[in-house]
Amino acid sequence: MNNVFDILKLTPKTNCKKCGYPTCMAFAVGAVNDEISLSHCPFIEDAKSIETHKNIPSEQGLLRELQGKIKTTDLNEKIKDLGVDFHEANGNFTIKIPYINRTIVITNNDIKDMDNREIDPRDAILLYNYIFFGGKGDLSGEWIGMESMPNSISKVKTLKRYTEEKLAIFFSGKPDELRSRVSSINGVIIEPCEAHLCFIIKVLPKIPIKIHFWDMDEEDGFPASVKALYDRRAMNFLDIESLVFASERMAEALVEGEQGFNY
Ligand code: SF4
Repeated sequence: MNNVFDILKLTPKTNCKKCGYPTCMAFAVGAVNDEISLSHCPFIEDAKSIETHKNIPSEQGLLRELQGKIKTTDLNEKIKDLGVDFHEANGNFTIKIPYINRTIVITNNDIKDMDNREIDPRDAILLYNYIFFGGKGDLSGEWIGMESMPNSISKVKTLKRYTEEKLAIFFSGKPDELRSRVSSINGVIIEPCEAHLCFIIKVLPKIPIKIHFWDMDEEDGFPASVKALYDRRAMNFLDIESLVFASERMAEALVEGEQGFNY
């Protein structure tokens, strides 16, 4: 066990909050950072034994580990199909990755945004994960729901709660505001649309997420609803836990707006 995603895999990913954290991902980051013991999640079996026998590095330790790993990785091979900008000279490399509405720069020793600001370690881990996953090939252009992906039952619930319902509740009765927020983070409105509003946000170059938004219908008593769709080959580029997390960050960017969304 050596990273947030390893710990995340031990949890049921239901985001039940019994550990005191709002999500299993937040708990996993807290555990890596030595802020909380694994035993605070009642669903992790043998938590004490895992902690005793495994070396869980701190969050900074994890990032150092990832930064060390990237130096010894054949990046030319890993990143050629990822849609990132890559330069290498005299043993130094720069990878520029578009991430939601910003560009993140990874170098031999650092990961920052284009304005040289630190980014949230969860985002840093997601971006390293995207590189190390080393996806190959093209996207299919065919959209599917997460329920059509393998081993996705618990993830579908998390996606519903922290992405789909979050967007539906926040933008209920406010489709114009949603349209404006989509544009502000470089999303593309799709027309014609089978819902009230359809748009695509490229969270990462090979991870576009298509959102269908149906506004509430006061007359018939229907609440607003949202459906997130993914390219059929999305899992060629990211594991499903990372895909759920990427979706949550996209929803946070829309809800909190450009000013409030903190990388
Ligand atoms: S880590 Fe465990 S206790 Fe915490 S939210 Fe997830 S399932 Fe619930």
